[in-house]
Amino acid sequence: MKVRLFKPSVGKDELESIQDSFNSAWLGLGPKVTEFERQWSGYIGSKESVGVNSCTAALHLALSAYRFPEGKKVLVPALTFAATAMAVLYNRLIPVFVDIDERTLGISLEDLERKVDKDCVAVMPVHFGGHPVPMDDLVAWAKSRNLKVIEDCAHTAGGKYKGKALGTWGDIGCFSFEEKKCMTTGDGGMISSDDVELLKPLRQSRWIGINKDTWARYEEIVSGNPDTNSWYYEISNIGYKYNMNDLMASIGLVQLQKLDGMNLRREQIIGRYLECLEKLDYIQPAMPYHLQSSSYWAFIVRVQNREKFIAHMQEHSVAIGVHYMPLPMQPLFLQYASATPNASSIWGELVTLPLYPDLTDKEMEYVQTIITSYQ
Ligand SMILES: *Cc1c(COP(=O)(O)O)cnc(C)c1O
Repeated sequence: MKVRLFKPSVGKDELESIQDSFNSAWLGLGPKVTEFERQWSGYIGSKESVGVNSCTAALHLALSAYRFPEGKKVLVPALTFAATAMAVLYNRLIPVFVDIDERTLGISLEDLERKVDKDCVAVMPVHFGGHPVPMDDLVAWAKSRNLKVIEDCAHTAGGKYKGKALGTWGDIGCFSFEEKKCMTTGDGGMISSDDVELLKPLRQSRWIGINKDTWARYEEIVSGNPDTNSWYYEISNIGYKYNMNDLMASIGLVQLQKLDGMNLRREQIIGRYLECLEKLDYIQPAMPYHLQSSSYWAFIVRVQNREKFIAHMQEHSVAIGVHYMPLPMQPLFLQYASATPNASSIWGELVTLPLYPDLTDKEMEYVQTIITSYQ
């Protein structure tokens, strides 16, 4: 048997939804993107959302919304995907790497207090693996320091902390719909906030800075408004080609319907992993999985002698991953490195095991057998 690490859960319903866009022959930025944005806002409970083509783009634009002066600093966890810190560089800002909490692998509130200085303007917590950062404490701390909070929710979609959706605690929440994440649009991302005015300019930034998208102009034509000059638009600021399109939104609208079910199935599978691990002393869950209103993207464990364990899993065709080598170890980010001892020591024990809604009971049993037969 071969078991994949991640697998998008897509099928007939998504295909039918795409067919619908084919029938109308409107594939670009159009009404489905608007509808998906509306439903997404309703689902997580935020006032406004802007659809983009990746979470990397979402993080870039979210940070750009504040027009921070060049050279200011942004606090990011050392253990995250490169996009979190890359967005800081895109904005000509400086990443300050913060250590992780050894119990949750999320950004350490103690190290935040150590690393913050007067040049810091924002903090970007990542809900690592889908495990919530304690946002009540983090937001209160950030407010007291006058920092903006941009939540990197790429590892979660639909997860809650203390009853409130992740991505709605900070000033802006950014989500990923890349194929391996909690729900997918192929590639895709979303920017959500209660600050409607703050997100307004981002609609232009995602569309090369144009103040009116082609769909809006098309609607003006069909509505036959004689006062509108439908070909006319203005560009006042630098923009990017970051828009979501209607094909992505077609998939997203269906995935959103399935999301709660997919999160529940992930909880089930994690529950089975936890039961299996309880009996083994060489492998532990890497975080305290709370299986309620959760949206965990990955199941991550800590193992001593990791390379041997990885070889064992691979020998039996069980795919594994390592998330992540700490960013300050990457050549690009080396110059921003500072002391992050937990990230430096813990990452060497991390292994990500297969987790996706369509993982069958049979596959699950097989993976457990292989884990148990180690040593
Ligand atoms: C995947 C990921 C991103 C980027 O998401 P894309 O949609 O692939 O651009 C950002 N942050 C984290 C923590 C991620 O895991």
